Amino acid sequence: SQPAVETDALIIGAGPAGLFQAFQLGLQGIAAQLVDALPHAGGQCYQLYGHKPIYDIPGIPVCSGLELVRRLEQQIAPMQVPRHLGQQVQSVEPMADGRWQIGTTAGTWFQARTVFIAAGVGAFVPKALKVPGAELLDPEQLLYHPQHLDGAAGREVLVYGGDEEAVTAAIGCAVEGGMRARKTYLMHRRDAFSAEPGQLAQLQQLRESGAVEVITGQITEVRQQDGRLQAVQWMDGEGNEHPLPLELLLVYLGISPRLGPLTDWGLALERKQLLVDPATLATSAPGIYAIGDIVSYPGKKRLILCAFHEATMAAFAAAEYLQGSKPLLEYTTTSARLHAILGVE
Ligand code: FAD
Repeated sequence: SQPAVETDALIIGAGPAGLFQAFQLGLQGIAAQLVDALPHAGGQCYQLYGHKPIYDIPGIPVCSGLELVRRLEQQIAPMQVPRHLGQQVQSVEPMADGRWQIGTTAGTWFQARTVFIAAGVGAFVPKALKVPGAELLDPEQLLYHPQHLDGAAGREVLVYGGDEEAVTAAIGCAVEGGMRARKTYLMHRRDAFSAEPGQLAQLQQLRESGAVEVITGQITEVRQQDGRLQAVQWMDGEGNEHPLPLELLLVYLGISPRLGPLTDWGLALERKQLLVDPATLATSAPGIYAIGDIVSYPGKKRLILCAFHEATMAAFAAAEYLQGSKPLLEYTTTSARLHAILGVE
């Protein structure tokens, strides 16, 4: 296995809170790394309301969720924070030397002097296909919201779902110049798909040419032999079942947040929120801080603005914890040390 990644600070969650935490740690001269279950940064802003406007970020009268993420990314660029995406943190355990050992679903291990939990409403993970046989499949033949469609080339593929991502995948598998599956099926419980009008028109063309076959129904069972996908059993609107031979199953049932293993990390919780001291954002464990939507303290508001404040307080507290003395308060306007960190003159 890979050697553990050593870092002064590990930030769990790359939503707005985690991103700004990286910035504030950077200003304190503390090297941090980011982990997120999603394949991209942005948390709820990206995943739940990317194209909707936000009106209450100080100094930005209006911006979309995606625009805020883009601006935060730009702001933390000078910090060059390594990212470990598409993996969920599973375990956080104390080490004999006072550091923390953190393990992820991708098998990455970290050894961190401080940990910042910015887990929001939980790790965004794909909804699993819960039918008999699905759990026995070779993971290469059942992919959830895959980032690329390389595996589809030359195979009989079923895209399962009705949202924009599912439609995009079906088009990507079937279109000339795309991945060119041998056969592309798109199955959804209704013959209605939510996607941009242009995509729906393209899907319609592909249906008419026979490049995509739309099936209205639901998967009831996955048939496999020694982990190899053979077929799915599906049910139509009248309740009749049919087999569909297949080589690859791409599942798009949505991505939703799950609190997951966080409740097992031995930290004080109140109604599934981490209890913190609002002066330092310290949790009940030394060196572990928590910020953003995941925390609870008297008067806590689940707003991005409040998460930014918490990130700042936590960075100051962690600097004191790591160096044993209170850090100076310096202004980004005038401090030569901060200018050097930010790469500005
Ligand atoms: P999140 O944004 O939830 O990010 C947490 C990240 O942590 C996620 O990416 C998740 O995948 C990751 N994660 C969690 N656990 C793990 C783990 N174990 N391993 C790896 N990764 C993990 N707030 C405002 O201030 N103004 C608004 O106008 C506003 N509008 C909103 C509109 C909507 C529709 C919604 C849903 C929320 C809105 N909010 C708004 C609230 C705001 O989005 C949240 O307060 C903010 O996203 C919290 O940021 P966060 O970084 O704490 O958590």
